[in-house]
Amino acid sequence: MVTNAAGTMRWRDMAREASLASLVGGHTRCCSRRDFLAGAGTLVFAGMSAAADNRSGTEFTLFLCGDVMTGRGIDQILPHPGDPMLYESWMRSARGYVALAEGETGPLPRAAAFDYIWGDALAELARVQPDVRIVNLETAITTAREPWPDKGIHYRMHPANLPCLTAAGLDCVSLANNHVLDWGRHGLEETLRSLHAAGIRTAGAGVDADAALAPAAIPLGGGRRLLVYACATTDSGVPPDWTAGLRQAGLHVLQDLSKDSVTRIATRIDADRRNGDVVMLSIHWGGNWGYAVSNAARHFARSVIDLAAVDLVHGHSSHHPLGIEVHRGRLILYGCGDFLNDYEGIGGHEQQRPELTMMYFPRLSTDGHLRALELVPMKIRHFRVNRADAAESAWLESMLNREGAAFGTRVEPAGNGSLVLRWD
Ligand SMILES: [Zn+2]
Repeated sequence: MVTNAAGTMRWRDMAREASLASLVGGHTRCCSRRDFLAGAGTLVFAGMSAAADNRSGTEFTLFLCGDVMTGRGIDQILPHPGDPMLYESWMRSARGYVALAEGETGPLPRAAAFDYIWGDALAELARVQPDVRIVNLETAITTAREPWPDKGIHYRMHPANLPCLTAAGLDCVSLANNHVLDWGRHGLEETLRSLHAAGIRTAGAGVDADAALAPAAIPLGGGRRLLVYACATTDSGVPPDWTAGLRQAGLHVLQDLSKDSVTRIATRIDADRRNGDVVMLSIHWGGNWGYAVSNAARHFARSVIDLAAVDLVHGHSSHHPLGIEVHRGRLILYGCGDFLNDYEGIGGHEQQRPELTMMYFPRLSTDGHLRALELVPMKIRHFRVNRADAAESAWLESMLNREGAAFGTRVEPAGNGSLVLRWD
């Protein structure tokens, strides 16, 4: 963000230029790693797999969304606000973001109940009753006082406010993003300890490289597991030196979206995966604004499905949702947008409606095929998640149809205010 001459807070694209020189090579539609993993040497094509799914007879539903940022201004209205000190060139106190928001949308509570921030999302979670709930947590949870040097923005939430995450029944958070190390490696270690003590699994960051690469293994019943891997690319703003080391806490950072990166992920998944596991890859990638999905990103997403046995790609980093693709029966969410943040009162990018967001409820068969995707339009306002009104839902519907056209997807109203995905 920058402050313009009139003193108004404005966004500026913090993302670095992508340097994706090395594109993933053409993926194979048959004889891929997935086909061999399907067993017995039988090739399985997307169009042939429905019968197998029916024989398995079971499905499960996920709740997914994009960035959940409970630090900074949000932290200040929760019961245990941390040190508000900031090191931003335009703002020195997290309370300033509370004041900005109040100037835009009116008074905010103080010492708000832990479930306040989830607003209308709680009723949707109660209605859908997803089996597993996963978000990208875009903040450190720490009392650490040393900000990462040479970084413009640092998010932190006080560990005593962690019940705001358990209030939504989160099972797992992705931590591979450009804010979890904002308060140094000690801050990351405290974040991990705090989440694990609360029973929330983590993926994409760890006390060393092996822990950062390891999946969160979530039981699905019947001995099946959902393996959640998470990683980030540097074009999302992750400093390269945040990469976890042999004996150093950090993130699972992908240096590029090349075939070598796909191969490394495939090798890791191959080592962890048991028969019956469903595999999800959560990835923080790309800049904050704009709808374009790079060829490199599209090739990568398809390649991890074809070659690394990934069943669902959960993308995030953009402040607004992006188009959706279904590749060989597997869901690719290129960007889920922000789900909660303290950005009210920050002008700019109004045409992309970054306050509008969605709850993603994909229903998968236990072999990883997408059965259905319900999207619930929501809106960030008053530091909480609210149901979008009819006009806002129609805007999201139109955007998803515009951006999904290139991917062969479209959405339709479900009649209950939700949208459902249709795909070729
Ligand atoms: Zn981010």
